[in-house]
Amino acid sequence: MLEFLSGLLNTPSPAGFTDQAIAFCETAFKPFPDLKLKRTQKGALLAAWPGEKNDSPRALTAHVDTLGGMVKEIKANGRLQLTRIGGFAWNTVEGEGCTVFTRRGDQVRGSFLLNKASTHVYGSEVGKAEREDENMEVRLDARTQTSGETQDLGIEIGDFVAFDPRVEIREGFVRSRHLDDKASVATLLAAVKAISEAGLKPRQDTFLLISNYEEVGHGASAGLPQNVCELVAVDMAAVGDGQNSSEFHASLCVKDSGGPYHHGLSNHLRDLADKHKIPYMVDIYPYYGSDGEAYWRAGGDVAVALIGPGVDASHNYERTHTEALVATANWVLAYLLED
Ligand SMILES: [Zn+2]
Repeated sequence: MLEFLSGLLNTPSPAGFTDQAIAFCETAFKPFPDLKLKRTQKGALLAAWPGEKNDSPRALTAHVDTLGGMVKEIKANGRLQLTRIGGFAWNTVEGEGCTVFTRRGDQVRGSFLLNKASTHVYGSEVGKAEREDENMEVRLDARTQTSGETQDLGIEIGDFVAFDPRVEIREGFVRSRHLDDKASVATLLAAVKAISEAGLKPRQDTFLLISNYEEVGHGASAGLPQNVCELVAVDMAAVGDGQNSSEFHASLCVKDSGGPYHHGLSNHLRDLADKHKIPYMVDIYPYYGSDGEAYWRAGGDVAVALIGPGVDASHNYERTHTEALVATANWVLAYLLED
């Protein structure tokens, strides 16, 4: 699980630029012959997994797309102004290394900084400047001082920019950007591997949707077959002041910005966690939406619930613990194997 997670975290995938990450998942799910894989038109990965029964097909979803940037403007000084992909504050990536992906397939490295970055030049302005689009820029690791020289590098408006994940795994902690939601994708893979290697099948026909537009609100709104009765979104739990979630537990989210989740399915998941002694918390996330709700909004007539590993400092430099990942994987296993 950790090896796959590390590889996926190191595969850049801002929403809209996820082909590589989807291919990485495809390679990981391919060795399990019971799973039939296909890519949706939208570029997500759908795995169909026959179960012992097919009277109430189930689905689980987790997303590989992440926060990121896109080139909004090539500035007169050769540096780049970005527009944000997904919901985050610029200060959470200030000073971070980044890669610009050109249309021709080249990669140009750089770093994301305040325009007035040097304390020796700008003094107290460095601390006070608003972290707004116009005040932030990408400084490219290339000899360019004009917009023309930057264009000569092959960089254009609309090029995707990925921020370095800085993956570090030690003492059971996993520290990286974009654990949201690559950590959950890893728990799904772990569950598939465990069930397959034990020679088992899921209780019901099951679909796994690795979605690719969650951070912009419509990931799982398409891609699931019509006959699915239940959808469990597996996505990070929000850890912070006043929250019940923790880096050492999985969480069940009963309500977020989109309102309450399905009471019956949520209670079923709680019963499963109790029965299997899975360390879990029940929580409410104040500023949060999920792919489960995206499917509901798109008209999906299913019961939807949300579980996932606790992630500290989400949409910032995130961290979780292996215990939360194992708890989530075990919860997914219990859901897949039981009635
Ligand atoms: Zn997420």
